[in-house]
Amino acid sequence: MHPFQSPRAHAEPDEPSTSYRSVEAWGMTHRADARVLEPRTVDEVRRSLAIAREEGVTIGPRGTGCSYGDASVNTGGHSLDIRGLNRVLSFDPETGIADCEAGVTIETLWKTVLPHGWWPMVVSGTMFPTLAGALGANIHGKNNFKVGTLGDAVLDFDMLLSSGELRTVSRESDPELFHAAIGGYGLLGVFTRIRLRTKRVHSGNLEVSGYATANLREMMQYFEEHTATADYLVGWIDAFGKGRMRGRGLVHNARYLEPGEEEDDVAKTLSLAYQELPANIMGLFPKAEVWHILERFSNDTGMRLVNGAKFVSGLFEGNRPPIRQSHAAFAFLLDYVPNWKRAYGEGGLIQYQPFVPPETAHEVYSECFRWSYKKGFVPYLGVFKRHRPDPFLMTYCTGGWSMAMDFKVTANNRAELWEHCAELSEIVLAGGGRFYFAKDMVITPEVCERMYPAGTLDAFFELKRRLDPDGLLVTDAWRRAFEPLFDRWCES
Ligand SMILES: Cc1cc2nc3c(=O)[nH]c(=O)nc-3n(C[C@H](O)[C@H](O)[C@H](O)COP(=O)(O)OP(=O)(O)OC[C@H]3O[C@@H](n4cnc5c(N)ncnc54)[C@H](O)[C@@H]3O)c2cc1C
Repeated sequence: MHPFQSPRAHAEPDEPSTSYRSVEAWGMTHRADARVLEPRTVDEVRRSLAIAREEGVTIGPRGTGCSYGDASVNTGGHSLDIRGLNRVLSFDPETGIADCEAGVTIETLWKTVLPHGWWPMVVSGTMFPTLAGALGANIHGKNNFKVGTLGDAVLDFDMLLSSGELRTVSRESDPELFHAAIGGYGLLGVFTRIRLRTKRVHSGNLEVSGYATANLREMMQYFEEHTATADYLVGWIDAFGKGRMRGRGLVHNARYLEPGEEEDDVAKTLSLAYQELPANIMGLFPKAEVWHILERFSNDTGMRLVNGAKFVSGLFEGNRPPIRQSHAAFAFLLDYVPNWKRAYGEGGLIQYQPFVPPETAHEVYSECFRWSYKKGFVPYLGVFKRHRPDPFLMTYCTGGWSMAMDFKVTANNRAELWEHCAELSEIVLAGGGRFYFAKDMVITPEVCERMYPAGTLDAFFELKRRLDPDGLLVTDAWRRAFEPLFDRWCES
């Protein structure tokens, strides 16, 4: 047990439960010991904010803690764990509209709606985030080019301000707050309820095809040729590819089935039993043990081998007819291997995900791979997606592409890796790119200032000062990337 960990204290009525524990970035590269307040009702959330205020400390909202970096860690202050607000308040199987407490997870949402023939409009590569955390970051899925971000599916939300005032906000009632709080990283207020649309589906299966691409140019071309017909597109990249093979990889293209197209019993495919992820990988290895096996390959030689083998197997996949795959299996591939992040070792990992406009994307990503290879920092996993612009103030989507790159962190390489990312950021900024704080651990205030269009930070800081005048809501990502800019803005 961590020395700072304590059992959950019994709470008085209306008082949130409290525990003391280490609060960690998902990538395991950052942590803080904190008093964690665990409310179960809106009143308890309000009381949690009041407790922080009375004690003269800050408080950082937190969902499941699936952000790779420090977006929901708050060093020196309290942590507000929203997961106790976990009830689906209503779901209408006629309209597909779900009204949820903010701590409801994506897992609970899809498990509630799928048996009725609906699927969340937007999910991340893992089903464990809360809706609150997912909306705080404004997540995107493999269908971002088609349906936008999670915020685009939201009808309205309740948000508790640091003053204790509860506001119901929709894009009609308060467009300014609606578009700033979504993707506002918990810095303007605390979501307590979220009402959102889901998508009608006519089967629990998708039709999925794989296609191997020899380099990044080919992959981009494949995406462009299929955005009109595909519902989901995602590219896996082998970053060890060089020269004409730079950016080689495998694209997965999935589409929903039309009514009547499912040959199997539709109700059966929509059932949770059908969607359950298998207990064994390839029918052989118990999935809970797989990260131990992966750990042996978590070095340059091992990953070169694994990625090479995956690419070759992708060549065969491309020659096969499309397959039927359940929604859960396609969407939450990473959840197949519990604790896979532990394969990276004690130092953990960071994900570096630049979003780059169409005009410069090929050049920027090629240069990032070339430079990473040269410096000996080859990302072990590369994931490529197509995006469309969205109307949210702090948006990371540039209307182009994103490349998520996972880098292994060790005690020895940490400082150099951060320097390397700073060099990559220069390449990205020169190409008009941006970054995403759900995945970030390295952005400096200078990069933060340069990546947003003129006026964006002014508008956000204006709201921060108005809605949270005492600076109660704080996270380490705020301290690292925004606070120096905010302080300067306040003085100007
Ligand atoms: C394996 C894996 C795959 C992923 N795949 C994707 C992907 O495909 N697409 C994508 O976009 N992201 C992806 N992510 C990132 C993840 O979806 C986001 O980091 C998401 O924000 C995590 O939600 P959470 O509940 O864990 O929130 P946390 O990580 O705990 O918090 C996220 C942010 O929301 C804020 N917040 C938390 N609760 C509240 C609240 N009640 N009110 C206001 N703000 C709040 C926090 O302060 C923080 O800034 C992935 C992460 C992992 C680990």
